[in-house]
Amino acid sequence: MNIILLGPPGAGKGTQARILVEERNMVQLSTGDMLREAKDSGTEMGKVVAEVMASGNLVTDEIVIGLIREKLETTEAAGFIFDGFPRTLKQADALGELLEEMGQTLDKVVELRVEDEALVKRITARSTCGDCGEVYNDVTKPIPADGKCVKCGGTEFKRRADDNEDSLRTRLMAYYKQTSPLIGYYYHAGIHSRVDGLGEIDEIKAAIAEKLDS
Ligand code: AMP
Repeated sequence: MNIILLGPPGAGKGTQARILVEERNMVQLSTGDMLREAKDSGTEMGKVVAEVMASGNLVTDEIVIGLIREKLETTEAAGFIFDGFPRTLKQADALGELLEEMGQTLDKVVELRVEDEALVKRITARSTCGDCGEVYNDVTKPIPADGKCVKCGGTEFKRRADDNEDSLRTRLMAYYKQTSPLIGYYYHAGIHSRVDGLGEIDEIKAAIAEKLDS
């Protein structure tokens, strides 16, 4: 099964994708993670995307479609979870074509709905383990008092450069202007469903499972 987790920054797409990877043996394809890797690698492409990402705007369709194409061509998986991709109608069309070329289909699109106010609170409190990427929140899931990651025991934690209020405002605008039309796009394809993304991680996990297994 190939699925998209759709939603604004901070909706919990990454957290839920990681759970699906553990529980369903699927492969998470996060264009945000791929772009951060490219940025850290210091390549020409990395330099180009670094500035765009810091501002909160979207990187060009050509770059992200290229990254996804390469992953799809080189990865074997029981199913893919697209996290943070597609973000534009052009990317959505490209994904459909890529899957078709591979003889595969896009089966479900689960939208995580969270109000803006909660998104701002979540994002400005967010950090991740530098080793395994486990996500923490200063209020709801603080880094343990012993300073060790609950998943891997790592002791380095990072905050994303774009998790600040200025970038976040731009990222939210990009979501509403460029990404939210995908809701209608996939609704009309008959594969969209919506889950309340505000609540306990386990409750949201169960709500997503219900949509995927129905
Ligand atoms: P994310 O980790 O998904 O929040 O993505 C972080 C940043 O990477 C975004 O604010 C964009 O600048 C860029 N980015 C990630 N995925 C895409 C995409 N599918 N299309 C364009 N830009 C993207």
